[in-house]
Formats: sequence, structure tokens, C-alpha cells
Amino acid sequence: MDAPVKPEITLPGISASHGIAYGQVFVFIQSNVEVPNYQVEPDKRAAEIARFEQALLATRQQITKIKNEVEKNLGPEEAMIFDAHLLVLEDQALIGETIRDFEKTGRNIETCFDQVSSRYIQAFSEIDDEYLRERAGDIRDVAQRVLQNLLGQAENSLSRLADQRIVVANDISPSDSANIGRGAALALVTDSGSRTSHAVIVARSLKVPAVVGMGDLTKVAKNGDWAIVDGYDGIVILHPSESTLFRYGKIKEQKKTFESRLLQANELPAVTLDGVKVPLLANIERVEELPMVKDYRAEGIGLYRTEFLFLNSARLPTEQEQFVAYQTVVRALAPHPVVIRTLDLGGDKPMTGHPHLFPKEDNPFMGLRAIRFCLVHPDIFKDQLRAILLASAHGRVQLMYPMISGAEELTRANAVLAECKAELRARGQPFDEKLEVGAMIEIPSAAATIDLLAQQCAFFSIGTNDLIQYLLAIDRVNDRIAHLYEPTHPAVIRTLKQIVDEAHRRKVPVSVCGEMAGDPVYAPLLLGLGVDSLSMSPTWLPAVKYVVRAMTMADAKALAAEALTLGTATEIYAKCDAFYRARVKVE
Ligand code: PEP
Ligand code: MG
Repeated sequence: MDAPVKPEITLPGISASHGIAYGQVFVFIQSNVEVPNYQVEPDKRAAEIARFEQALLATRQQITKIKNEVEKNLGPEEAMIFDAHLLVLEDQALIGETIRDFEKTGRNIETCFDQVSSRYIQAFSEIDDEYLRERAGDIRDVAQRVLQNLLGQAENSLSRLADQRIVVANDISPSDSANIGRGAALALVTDSGSRTSHAVIVARSLKVPAVVGMGDLTKVAKNGDWAIVDGYDGIVILHPSESTLFRYGKIKEQKKTFESRLLQANELPAVTLDGVKVPLLANIERVEELPMVKDYRAEGIGLYRTEFLFLNSARLPTEQEQFVAYQTVVRALAPHPVVIRTLDLGGDKPMTGHPHLFPKEDNPFMGLRAIRFCLVHPDIFKDQLRAILLASAHGRVQLMYPMISGAEELTRANAVLAECKAELRARGQPFDEKLEVGAMIEIPSAAATIDLLAQQCAFFSIGTNDLIQYLLAIDRVNDRIAHLYEPTHPAVIRTLKQIVDEAHRRKVPVSVCGEMAGDPVYAPLLLGLGVDSLSMSPTWLPAVKYVVRAMTMADAKALAAEALTLGTATEIYAKCDAFYRARVKVE
């Protein structure tokens, strides 16, 4: 008899990265493994201990294998972290205490191990010694692996995703997503998150479809289930029927035709019908994205998110290591500009495994992140500033600070930069003495003080992702309020207008590098408001160039003027959408 056919289920989410994927699901269970809690019968207790020993052995084998691979591919220094992980498995106190707890309480071994390891993690993270504090991260990593082995769950590492699968996760942290190898994931789907979460930005850079805000797909989907991910409409279809597969085959064809039209137009200059040239630049996170920047004809890099170099690393990269990465990007783009943004760690991008640098915060988005973090860790900041300065000798670099909240902060950052310049002069190392410095405008207080910031800035770049979250008080990664995250809210449009007008009055150019810039429905509005250039994930460039080439700047200005008179986000969105549809025929 045939196995029963599972009924097709269509589940709605939020479209985060375009494309359609069809394949088998890999459920990625991240960090907080759900630990069952039950009593073990006395006659099964010896078997329970044997099960624990088996899980420890399996974990040891997995870590040794990864260690060997890392050593082979990256070198012994990078592999050292896994020695620390192996040591955790030999920790007699941790293992012994788990077994003692089990013998005393008779609760299942996962529960005992979870409780003991949590106590250890807590104790280590409170120790006043940097080395010992870092061990909390090691114990956490290893404990998760042991628990997964006990529970028979797939290994918790996306870097080991070998087959092409649709990755379904509760959430994907920036470091998890930074681990996904090119070509390994067919699509990314998360229970939580919103369009601007960093996992999504990485999905776009990997050119895979992504749908977020699914609610509880990780509970519904099983490893190996077949699914369609529709990154255009933000839906996931589990166990698709023959007719759905047929329908999607057609949709995919149509999208492909439209996309090839966009790609053809992408070879042409970004000039409006009334002759206004619009610089279109790329956002990147990793050096590996350089080929995409070239393929999509970006005229420079408007945002290089350098924190990904840190998120991916077990330790802080040195000045030299950073220099090598920055120089590679700068050389590849020369003579086009590269805007290198200084570290934007913290918020939703903490460095894992460094709890002493990034202790838990109740409000991480309003916490010690980005420039604030750099100013209290001048050594880390200075290593980066020197590396950027050194790279500036190899092409056209512009340096940009994230999360500037006011002129005083900018003055302090510039003072540290001046120290770094003096150090390099003393070392006799060249850098661009005319290096331009700019600020991201992504906090309302910065938007309100553009006149003051303009005195110290050669350019501004508006980070709409954060600006919208702070202006509207909407956590950008909270799916429960994702519907309230409205880029066309009148407050957003008015603020953008004020920033541009105030900056232009002081002859400072303004770019937008938030996700709004890469959406062809919003790009005309931004240009109509007077924004000078747009920077976006490279894959969005063709669609934005297409609409730029299909519109006049005069019409875009009229659109912006009308938007400024409207009272609701819905009305403004409708105008933008109509503007787009009138110019771009999407099948
Ligand atoms: C932004 O906030 O819009 C931005 C571009 O920065 P990030 O998304 O890296 O916070
Ligand atoms: Mg930001």
C-alpha cells in the first residue's frame, strides 16, 4: 500500500527575499533546545546513564571532525577553539554532577544535564576573569550539542549543511547565517523576524528566497518534508500537490522572464527619462560578495557592514586581518568609492562567545551597541580605524560611523580617529589624508540635529531600517508588530524630507542605505524627496535601476510632494505602488 499523501498546507509569513524554491526541509534547531522533563523508572536508570555516555561520545566525535576540517581549511589557530570545547566534555565536575543529580532525582538525563550546565554557564559568565568568562560560551556550545545528540536532533550547525535544503529555523542569528556556505541553502524560513532582520539581509546576499515571521513552522515542518518557499508573496507551502507544483513552475518561468528583462536593462546607465543620473551602490557584509557587486554593476559600495568579520570569528580580528579584508574590497572597487562602516555590533548583532563584551541587556537595541560600544572599547575601535585608514591608501575609502546620536559623540569618534592617524604617521604608514568621514542617520536625535552634525560630516547615509524602528517605536525584529513597521508612515516621510533639506542647505550629500533604498516601490519616493544616491543589497540593483530608467525625476518629485500632504501610511504606500505599477509592467 502507498504511504498516505500528506495534505498540502499553505502558511503565510512575510516576504523577505525574492525567489521561489522547491525542495526538502532541514529543521534547524537553534540554541534553546526544548528539553523534555520526565521521571525515569529505576530499572531503566543504567540505560539512561549509558545513553548519556553515548551522547558525550558522539559529541566528541563531531567536534573532533569539525576541528580537523577547520584546521585543514583555516589553520591551527582557528581550530583552537574546538580544543576548549573538547575539554568541556572531559570536565569531570560537569559530567559527575549531572550523573549525581540524576541518581538523586531520577529525572531524565537531559533535564539534569541542562540544569547543571546552565548553572556552570551562569557561574562562569559572572567570573571576574576574561579567560574564564569566555569559557561560558564554550560550555553553552557544547551543552547544546550534547542535548541535541541526546534528543536525536540534527546537528546545530548550518556550516555543516551539505545538501541543498530549505532551512527552517526559529530564528537565524547573524553568526549562524554567516556560517551558511554559498549554495548550501535553497531558502531560509524563520518563525520570527521581520523584513529587516540581519538573517534576511544575509539571505539576500546569498541570493536565496526567504520568508520570515512564520510563527511556528519549526513545530509543523519535519526534516525531509517537501515544500515550496515563495519569497515573492511570503508564503510556504508544505507537501505541495501536483497542481500547485505545476502552477509554481509557471510562476517561476514568468518571474524568470521578468528578471531577465531587468538584467538586460541593468547593463544600461541609471539615468531617469529626464536625464538625471542616479548613483546606485551596493551594501555588502562579506568580501565573498564582491563578484555580485560587479555582476550587478554597482557604482561603488555605499555600505560595508564590517561587523560580519567579527561575528564569524571566535576571537577579535587583528588590525592586520581587518586591513587585508578592507584592502581587498577597496582594491576590487577602485576607482569607485567604498563606504566602510565602523563596527555596528550589539543590538541584534552581539558577538557570540564573548559574554564579557556583550553581557545580556534588557533592551539591546537601545543598549551599548555600535559607536557606543566602540567608544567604551577604544582598543577594539582603534584597531579597526587604523585598518580602515591603511586600506584608504589603496583606493577610494569613505569612513562612516553607525548609530550616531549627536554632535558630541561624533566629536569623540573623530578624536579617536585623529589619534589613529597620528599613530600611522609616526609609524610612517601611508593613508588617505583627505579621507571623508560621514555618519549614518538612523536615530531620531541625529535627524533632528543635522545642522550640527553637518559641521563634522562630508556625507550622510540614512539607515531607514533603524530610523523607522526608533521613530515608530517598533522593534524591527519582532514579528508580532511587524505589521506596524511602516516605511511610508507620514512621520518617516517628513523626517526624511527634513534630513535631506537640512543637509543640502549645508551642501552635504545624502544617501539611503536601509532596505527601503532597494525596494523599487519606495526608491522613486526617496529620490523625489531629494536623496542623492541609493545603496542596497546587490540583487535589488536591477529592479531599482529599471524603475529609475522608466520614470522622470519631475514625476518622482511630484510623488514626494503629494506624499507629504497625505495623512496615512496606507495612502502614501498606495501612491508609491501606483507610481511603480504605471511604469513597470510586472507579469
Ligand atoms: C539601517 O539601519 O538602515 C542600516 C542600513 O543599518 P543596519 O541594517 O546594518 O542596522
Ligand atoms: Mg542600522
